[in-house]
Amino acid sequence: MKISVAQGDGVGPEVMGSVLQIFEKARVPLDYEHVEMGKQVVLAGDVTGISTEARDSVESTGILFKGPMETPKGGGHKSVNVTARKLWGTFANKRVYRTFPGVPTPTGVHGLHLTMIRENIEDTYGAVEHMQTHDVAQCRRFITRPGSEQVHRYTFEVAARKGARRVTCAHKANIMKMTDGLFLEAFYDVAKDYPQIEADDVIVDALAMRLVQDPSEFEVVVLPNLQGDIITDLTAGIVGGLAYAPSANIGESICIFEAVHGTAPDIIGKDLANPTALLLSGTMMLRHLGLVAHAAVIETALERTLWSMHKRPDLGQPIPAFRTSVFTEKMLDALDGLDIPQGQIPRLEIHRRSEPSMRVTPEPSTTVLRGVDVFLESDLSPKRVEEQLSALGGWLKLTMISNRGTQVSPVGSAYTDCVNHYRARFETEQPVSQHEIVSQIGAVGERFRLCGAEWLREIDGAQGYSLAQGQS
Ligand code: NAD
Repeated sequence: MKISVAQGDGVGPEVMGSVLQIFEKARVPLDYEHVEMGKQVVLAGDVTGISTEARDSVESTGILFKGPMETPKGGGHKSVNVTARKLWGTFANKRVYRTFPGVPTPTGVHGLHLTMIRENIEDTYGAVEHMQTHDVAQCRRFITRPGSEQVHRYTFEVAARKGARRVTCAHKANIMKMTDGLFLEAFYDVAKDYPQIEADDVIVDALAMRLVQDPSEFEVVVLPNLQGDIITDLTAGIVGGLAYAPSANIGESICIFEAVHGTAPDIIGKDLANPTALLLSGTMMLRHLGLVAHAAVIETALERTLWSMHKRPDLGQPIPAFRTSVFTEKMLDALDGLDIPQGQIPRLEIHRRSEPSMRVTPEPSTTVLRGVDVFLESDLSPKRVEEQLSALGGWLKLTMISNRGTQVSPVGSAYTDCVNHYRARFETEQPVSQHEIVSQIGAVGERFRLCGAEWLREIDGAQGYSLAQGQS
């Protein structure tokens, strides 16, 4: 069976070289199609960083095993890694954290086996960003019901396979009631299909503290994208650093296996790069392909290697510096002493597609428009803005003005610091038409520079917009 391999930039070729030697020694029954991705492809003019040949190869094999890739700084370049994850619909980023005998951990934790799954496509990672005024930037955060349900269902499937008793959803739904609220609601909806697994949730900041205090408290954790990005690196630190953090990006048709760390520019070519994270990403890939015995034998060799590299030669003597070449040699030696599995055939069912899929949950029975939030630029005081907006008249009534999410009218405080960007909320008790909303926006636009507008909807009787200002 063939898989696509991109060795990556920086220390990528060093760690990938080591891992492929180990795979060869362990007689892993895979063929490799080497593809061009990363910085060189970007510099050659392809902004995606993914060559046409690489795209064809990955879409044909269904598996990409990749080294770290550099995003050239400046020039509006997007991350090749993020582009690949989104392009190929890898909706879940799975990270398995375990401690290794001998490898020191900053908080002294040992015997840990924790799985974290991060939503991998949505949230602020669409990078839908705009300058609203010269002082105000905005990033749109998308959390969708189909995307949330997809990652939650995958999480419960992983938990069931692992024999986990509990799945925990991390969120900030106490502040972001619409977005994280939807993520959490979808979690408990999906949990109903897995009654044998306990489902609970935790606010993400509390999770950060509890992980540092006692990570063994958790078995499987699922998080939205940005919070997951931060918490999963924190957890990597807990088990000994990025060098011990593997990951799998899981899609319906295509999966990407990669280490969590980057190109490590400070140690390129110095024989200092630790291939463990990429090797463990590789064993996640082997398990995904049904090559469980190969994964197990490599992990046994890895435990022995890491133990021998970290133990003190004699009491009082320092541990020698980590060397990539020494690691590879020790891994090959360790495999010599183990039974290498024979004749296993990898299996992978690729769901072929001819066009993007559309994911829609059943239509809500009623959607009613109640008004509009209009965003406008002005350096006038809240009182002057209110005077001008109140004078507009029309079917919709001005009910609130906020600045940076803090209400400044009808009630505000002289101690609120404002910027030149206001939100004016226009509402009505009666359902309102789209045409009336557009004409209200037009009326505001005659007095102020417009920055944007958001429709206020009631969906199935529930208010589909946050109250006047953030509540906790
Ligand atoms: P980094 O992970 O490359 O390096 C952070 C620190 O960890 C450095 O001190 C480095 O020497 C060390 N380190 C990383 N991997 C190591 C390994 N295998 N063995 C030993 N030490 C290791 O993070 P960075 O410096 O912020 O990013 C460098 C580049 O990598 C940037 O261009 C960034 O965009 C890219 N990046 C890529 C990925 C990816 O491909 N998935 C992930 C993160 C960063």
